[in-house]
Amino acid sequence: MNPFEEQKKKQERIDASMKSINCLIAVGSGKGGVGKSTVSANLALSLAKEGYRVGLADADVYGPSIPTLFNIDKADVMVTEKDGQELMLPIEKFGIKLMSIGFMVDENAPLMWRGPMASNALTQMLSETLWGELDFLILDMPPGTGDIQLTLIQSFHPHGSIFVCTPQQLAVADVRRAINMFDNENIKVPVMGLVENMSYFTPSDMPDKKYYIFGQDGGKKLAQELNIDFLGEIPISQSVSECNDNGNPIAMLFDYTEAKAFMQLANKVVEKSKTIK
Ligand code: ADP
Repeated sequence: MNPFEEQKKKQERIDASMKSINCLIAVGSGKGGVGKSTVSANLALSLAKEGYRVGLADADVYGPSIPTLFNIDKADVMVTEKDGQELMLPIEKFGIKLMSIGFMVDENAPLMWRGPMASNALTQMLSETLWGELDFLILDMPPGTGDIQLTLIQSFHPHGSIFVCTPQQLAVADVRRAINMFDNENIKVPVMGLVENMSYFTPSDMPDKKYYIFGQDGGKKLAQELNIDFLGEIPISQSVSECNDNGNPIAMLFDYTEAKAFMQLANKVVEKSKTIK
C-alpha cells in the first residue's frame, strides 16, 4: 500500500471509530497545571449526573491525570474483537467510560515522547477504543499548541472545544495561541468558550463569601476580547484538590458548592453543544 492509501485507510478507521460519538469536545489550555484535567473530569461526571452517556479520554501525554483522578492503578485494559479488529474496552467508573494514555505506559514514559510517536500512540488509543454510543466524549488534550495537538484535531475533528485558564494566566499569550489554533480557518473547530479555574476562594465557615485573590472578572474580559463565550468560574478549594488526590472527583459530592459550579458549567456546555452542529 502506498503512503497515501495507508493514510486514507487510517483516516477511515478514525472516522469509523468516532461515528458513535454524538459530541466530541476537546478541552485545551495554554499551559499545564491550570486544572484542565480537573475541569475535564468534573465536566464529564456532571454531564453523566444529568443522564448523558459520557466518555473521558486522557490524551495529555505530558501528564496523564485520569489514573490518579479516578484512582485506577494501571488498570487491566481488556481487549475485545469487533468486525475482525482488536479494540480496547474503556474502564467504567462513576458511570463514565475512561481511557487514558496513562493506562498503557509507565508513568514517566509519555513525557519522553516527541511529535509523531505521541501522535500515533494517541490516535491509536482514541480510535481503537470501543466507546459505544456516547452523547459526549470529553478529550483532555495535551496543553499548548504543538504538532501533537494539531494532528489530534485534524484527525478527530472535535465538534467543539473548551479552554481552561487561571486568573494568573490571563495575560499570557499562550491561552490566546491555543484558542487561535482551534479557531484557525484551516481547522475550524468551534470554540464553545473559556472556563476560569481557581477564580476565587470561599472559606468553609463563610460559604457566601468569594475572595478573588488574583483579581476579578479577568476570564470574562478575555472571553469578551476574543469574542467567545465565558462558561464560568471554578473556585480554588482544598476539597477539589483533596478529592482529586483521593480518586473521587468533587462532582461526585452533590452538596458541595464546587460540584454546583461544575454542574453549571455542564449545563452551559449542553446548551452550547446544541448550537455548534
Ligand atoms: P492540568 O490538567 O491543567 O495540568 P490538573 O487538573 O492536573 O491541571 O491540576 C493541577 C493541580 O491543581 C492538581 O494538583 C489539582 O488537584 C489542582 N487543582 C486543579 N483545580 C483546582 C481547584 N479548583 N482548586 C484546588 N486545586 C485545584
